[in-house]
Amino acid sequence: MSIKEKFKILIIDDEASIRDSCSQVLSKEGYVTDTAEDGSIGLKKVKETKPDLVMVDLKMPGISGMEVLESLREIDPDIVSIVITGYATIESAVEAMKLGAYDYVPKPFTPDELRLITRRGLEKRRLLLETATLRLEKKQMEENFISLVTHELRSPLIAVKQYFDVILDQEISGKLKNKQKEMLGRASERIDGLMKLVNDWLQMMGIKENEIDKRFQDFNLKPLLEEAVELLQPLADKSEVALQLKPMDGIPRVYGDKITLTHVFINIISNGIKYNRKGGKVTVSVREEGGFLAVDVADTGIGIPEESLPLIFDQFYRVRGKVTRKHIGTGLGLSIARRIVEAHKGQITVQSTLGKGSTFTVLLPRAPQHKKQKKSKKSP
Ligand code: ATP
Ligand code: MG
Repeated sequence: MSIKEKFKILIIDDEASIRDSCSQVLSKEGYVTDTAEDGSIGLKKVKETKPDLVMVDLKMPGISGMEVLESLREIDPDIVSIVITGYATIESAVEAMKLGAYDYVPKPFTPDELRLITRRGLEKRRLLLETATLRLEKKQMEENFISLVTHELRSPLIAVKQYFDVILDQEISGKLKNKQKEMLGRASERIDGLMKLVNDWLQMMGIKENEIDKRFQDFNLKPLLEEAVELLQPLADKSEVALQLKPMDGIPRVYGDKITLTHVFINIISNGIKYNRKGGKVTVSVREEGGFLAVDVADTGIGIPEESLPLIFDQFYRVRGKVTRKHIGTGLGLSIARRIVEAHKGQITVQSTLGKGSTFTVLLPRAPQHKKQKKSKKSP
């Protein structure tokens, strides 16, 4: 087969003379042509032979040209269609374009006009095919990259980490000089940092809207926030920061994915603790806002400089400073959080005053209100 496959063109028209003349002109150009005398035969052929370009007469007995266009788009939106019109009224042409036709040719037309319009249509087809190929390649590259990161980076890291743990294990460490122990400890910490980076990265690649929403359900935020707060209590104690969850009884349920939303709150609350000061506070509270629930995480920490505010949700961005440097972090936490929240059709915003503190607000859609179903259960 030749590298450049021949383009296939299908002509659907009830007039035999049009079918034959088009077919003749276009085969001479080197295209593979086929014809159909009405819409239903035409659509059958489209499904069977997958042409690159279809010429459709607008006015035919049986299925109309417009209906053919509509079905064509459903079969394959990348097939280019050109409309043949008896009377080139602007209205019918506009209508046809709305239904996805690429162009139209008014009857009667000369072979030159036909050739020109076909060439343009096929150029469009070539671009559409190229785009589709590029899209596929991009997806494959992303998938390859994820498996590369998983297997080639994560597995060896886990292995190295295990060796360190064994060496640093108390029995053996008795035999280590203090200096060696300290260096190994630091190396092990760096490996933790790398593992965190790899895991964050994988998580971020995994968050695709259409994947998250398969796990959506309606649920109560309270236990989820309680869990996040409980998990972070040791960090708060160590940092001498008071962590508080305000009472939130009677708050409506939300609609979303529990697992990823837990990650969101753990990151935001842990930021509030990390970028804080001794004796500071982090308060988590929930309120209703229209069709949304708003979770506020307010801290009395170091605050964020105004010029950094638009950047903190970017990948890998961290504000420069003493406090930030003190904590191991990848700068991916908030960008992951934003992706997750946006996949929920929610929003995440921040207000901050340098030196005073910050409040992060997560808006999540409320669960749809279910009508209470009467259960015909007979109680004893
Ligand atoms: P990671 O979350 O991956 O461990 P990180 O905490 O540095 O790392 P993000 O959570 O994305 O990354 O936050 C980005 C940056 O925004 C932080 O490095 C910090 O400089 C700033 N920041 C985030 N939350 C706060 C906060 N509550 N107070 C002050 N600065 C904050
Ligand atoms: Mg963080």
